[in-house]
Amino acid sequence: MTDKTYPKLALQIAGTWRGASDGGTIPVVNPATAETIGDLPKATTADLDEALAAADRGFAAWRKVGAFDRYKILRKAADLLRERSERIATIVTIEQGKPLFEARVETLGGADTCDWLAEEGRRNYGRVIPPRAGDVMQIVMKEPVGPVAAFTPWNFPINQAVRKVAAALSVGCSIVLKGPEDTPASCAEMVRCFLDAGVPGDALQLVFGVPSEISEYLVPHPVIRKISFTGSTAVGKHLAALAGAHMKRATMELGGHAPAIVFEDADVEKALSVLSANKYRNAGQVCVAPTRFLVHDSIYERFVDGFVDISKNLKVGNGLEDGVKMGPLAHSRRIEAMEALVADAVEKGAGLRTGGKRIGNQGYFFEPTVFTDVPMSARIMNEEPFGPIAAIQRFSDDEEAFAEANRLPYGLASYAYTKSAQRASALASRIEAGMVSINHHGIALPETPFGGMKDSGYGSEGGMEALEAYVTTKFVTQQGL
Ligand code: NAD
Repeated sequence: MTDKTYPKLALQIAGTWRGASDGGTIPVVNPATAETIGDLPKATTADLDEALAAADRGFAAWRKVGAFDRYKILRKAADLLRERSERIATIVTIEQGKPLFEARVETLGGADTCDWLAEEGRRNYGRVIPPRAGDVMQIVMKEPVGPVAAFTPWNFPINQAVRKVAAALSVGCSIVLKGPEDTPASCAEMVRCFLDAGVPGDALQLVFGVPSEISEYLVPHPVIRKISFTGSTAVGKHLAALAGAHMKRATMELGGHAPAIVFEDADVEKALSVLSANKYRNAGQVCVAPTRFLVHDSIYERFVDGFVDISKNLKVGNGLEDGVKMGPLAHSRRIEAMEALVADAVEKGAGLRTGGKRIGNQGYFFEPTVFTDVPMSARIMNEEPFGPIAAIQRFSDDEEAFAEANRLPYGLASYAYTKSAQRASALASRIEAGMVSINHHGIALPETPFGGMKDSGYGSEGGMEALEAYVTTKFVTQQGL
């Protein structure tokens, strides 16, 4: 039987799992019960100094390890993640809330991501440029950028972190990971897989603490050469500005407010089942969740009725229980955010078709919620909901749908359902989003680019683009040898 105890929490600095130098801790809460389940060490400046010194040493040593040896170690880390997936997935559910089947998918998907990035590290090619003179050699080299500071959130404690850790390590960077304080144990177990596979303790540090204090210290620090952040647009803009002030390279994976356009020629049943499943996955706390549903007039009532029916019948409960399809929100802040969005939409005159309330008073459960005919002034039409709220709007001609899809400063994921090849190619060229998925939910695979445009950030964490963030280009030219 899988062990359901919650592990002891620690920082990982220079190969040692330990508490904070001043003994300070932050409580960790199970969102299904609201009970405190652990005490997370809160790193001090002295702890960060040790982590930075280790990352500096770690970079010098790890970059010298051959690409093939780094690849073998990272493949081993992926295998360990798979071997330990049942235990790690259970920890994800206990601290984050998502149903166990989703936690398993996340953990096994993390292993696949690690495999892909390990393999890409072996293909970190430079090139030779044909010279103008016969005795000149022109070489382009791709070198590891240096020690990385990475900041990852609580919604996918394994996946958001493994993308950064494996990409950085695969090309020879060291990394200081500031993991998610709300969901630290599963992220720590993922880090343990890398260390047990043979990554030196100096090359991979894991710290937790007060996020703003840690980023204010790490980003400007001279040891750090690259920043990678996943989280909200507001925090991303702040960190991008800080990185800019210190001329640090940065990757920003920020928020979204994904349009999902259902045209009149769509397979409505497929659109309903795929879009609703992805709306309520992880209780809607997904940056690529479909959130603004734009449905053609001719199928609007059918789509709304179907969506409301699915929402009313979704089994909400503790993610460890069989049959549960949606767990609690990850922490009390999301409950407050949902209540504020619902109150605002109702006040502005939106139609509340189902849901809208917290469930019970134990744990952070919220009803699957559907709004229709929402005024554009409502916050839900303009701010990322990051929770189980769907806003369904109608449109009558394609131009209206395109205009609404591109209206917001966000540009992360987008979805559409149509049988028309002409519409599909118009979507591909006209939608302002980093990812466009037509007639299925086909994004976030290790081998495909993952990233946004506009206020959703820059840089990519999947596909062959994933390593670009962690390398610098050096040009070498030599004559007469
Ligand atoms: P938040 O904006 O306070 O934090 C979001 C994430 O950023 C957290 O992981 C947090 O630790 C980190 N963070 C916050 N301030 C930071 C700082 N100064 N330096 C470094 N890291 C910092 O909000 P929250 O209540 O934790 O989450 C709510 C919002 O965050 C959501 O509305 C959503 O937009 C966003 N979010 C996005 C993602 C994503 O996958 N893009 C994931 C989680 C949260």
